[in-house]
Amino acid sequence: VPFRVDVVTIFPEYLTPLRQSLLGKAAERGLVGVEVHDLRQWTDDLHRTVDDAPYGGGPGMVMKPEPWARALEAVRSPGTRLVVPTPAGRPFTQAVAAAWATEPGLVFACGRYEGIDQRVADWAAGAGPVSEVSIGDYVLAGGESAVLVMVEAVTRLLPGVVGNRESVEYDSHADGLLEGPSYTRPASWRGHEVPAVLLSGDHAAIARWRRAESLRRTAARRPDLLAALPDGALTDDDRAV
Ligand code: SAM
Repeated sequence: VPFRVDVVTIFPEYLTPLRQSLLGKAAERGLVGVEVHDLRQWTDDLHRTVDDAPYGGGPGMVMKPEPWARALEAVRSPGTRLVVPTPAGRPFTQAVAAAWATEPGLVFACGRYEGIDQRVADWAAGAGPVSEVSIGDYVLAGGESAVLVMVEAVTRLLPGVVGNRESVEYDSHADGLLEGPSYTRPASWRGHEVPAVLLSGDHAAIARWRRAESLRRTAARRPDLLAALPDGALTDDDRAV
């Protein structure tokens, strides 16, 4: 049974990259089923209105709840997780991606304007898990690009999507650390040399060097990740780096 992705949006064309590249191939091979739905098909006025002024006043517009409720009733099978991207959400992380990749599928609700009437997420929680998540501490114009990010992060973790399982296991964030630098031929390039240990053929030394680079890079660029590691995650050798 393919992993199922349903996306509801007022800009269906924005999601066409889902047909490209790794994910497009996974869809062709029957590993992932992707459907994009135009929210406006669930409006019932001549102008196909999806937004209205905010209660309490203030700038911008809010997405009306009823088209969303109809869309979700049509698209979401009971128990399927609903993902609502919002800069006011909990952080989307590799751990979240890995957890979602074990589920049968996901439904994404792309907000625009000031977002979706809060009662949609509250009501939808009655039919299955709902996750309001942010892809980072900045504000996008709409949820579509956030959905592209999340779908790519989740689907590359599905069995069979990435050819080499190990490449997924060694990526940055899989073990809570950043991955160190990578090199390919030539060994000497424009005055820059590949670190000698990588040419040594000594696999234990290479593994130690990679671990040390991963720790150094994480300490320099993301000290918050080091601080968040569980007790026992670092060995005495790690601490000596
Ligand atoms: N008024 C909202 C707030 O301040 O929390 C911002 C709404 S934003 C302009 C419009 C839409 O873009 C949101 O409903 C959401 O779908 C999407 N969006 C913006 N930033 C995002 C982020 N960092 N992560 C996920 N989705 C985001």
